[in-house]
Amino acid sequence: MRRHGNLEYGCHAAPQRTCVGCRVRTDKSELLRLVLIEDRVVPDQRGRLPGRGASLHPSMSCLELAERRRAFPRAFRVPGPLDVSRVRAHLGGEPRNVM
Ligand SMILES: [Zn+2]
Repeated sequence: MRRHGNLEYGCHAAPQRTCVGCRVRTDKSELLRLVLIEDRVVPDQRGRLPGRGASLHPSMSCLELAERRRAFPRAFRVPGPLDVSRVRAHLGGEPRNVM
């Protein structure tokens, strides 16, 4: 009796997070983790910065949605407003292949 398929499906369920912009649940690895440093939202590219994080699809449209919905202050539980210029620069200004 082989139940490989089922077992694999069960074991490989990747952790998921909800994008604060479009609110779609996605594999954690597909999302950009953001953290709050003072009143700045910054991308946590290595996933190592401490503190409360928020997850966002690495796309401008999700960033804009998040801003419009005031999702960042809510995600970080601060009154806001927050500076997201670093995230914007990360999404718009940098080449994708930076490791
Ligand atoms: Zn999104």
